[in-house]
Amino acid sequence: MATTEEKAKTFENILRKHSLKVTHPRLAVLAKIFSKDTATSQPELEKSIGDDIDRVTLYRVLSAFEEKGIIHKIFDLHGTATYALCSTTCTVHQHHDEHVHFTCSVCNSVYCLQEIQLPEISLPSGFSIQQVAVNAIGICNKCRNLR
Ligand SMILES: [Zn+2]
Ligand SMILES: [Zn+2]
Ligand SMILES: [Zn+2]
Repeated sequence: MATTEEKAKTFENILRKHSLKVTHPRLAVLAKIFSKDTATSQPELEKSIGDDIDRVTLYRVLSAFEEKGIIHKIFDLHGTATYALCSTTCTVHQHHDEHVHFTCSVCNSVYCLQEIQLPEISLPSGFSIQQVAVNAIGICNKCRNLR
C-alpha cells in the first residue's frame, strides 16, 4: 500500500505530466476518482469534495482533465455524467478509451472494462470510423453476489 504522501506525489506527477498546475481542487478530484474502481459521477464528486470546492471550480477541473486526456466521460443509465481515468495512451484531444463500458442496472455503477477486446466492425464502403463506443448494460459481479 502506498502511503498518503506517496499518493499525493503521484497525483502531483500526473498533473505535471499533463502540464497542469498543481492545485488543491485538482488534487482532490484526482484522489477521489483514483479511489474507486468504478466511474465517479459529478454529483458524487460534489458530495465528497463539495465543501472545499464550488461547482464552477469542479466543472473547470473536470473539463481540463477531460481535455488533457486524464479522464473520460461516460453517461450512466440516468444520463448523469460519470468520469473514469483514461488509459495511458490518451493525450490532449486524442482519447483512446475504446473499451466496453458496463453499466449495472442494479447499482448504476459504470465500469471500464479495459481488458475486453472490442469486436471488429465492418463498414460499408466509403465509411470510416473515428471512434467506437460500446455500452453494455447488465448486472455487475458485486450485485450478482448479493442475490
Ligand atoms: Zn481518454
Ligand atoms: Zn451493480
Ligand atoms: Zn472507460
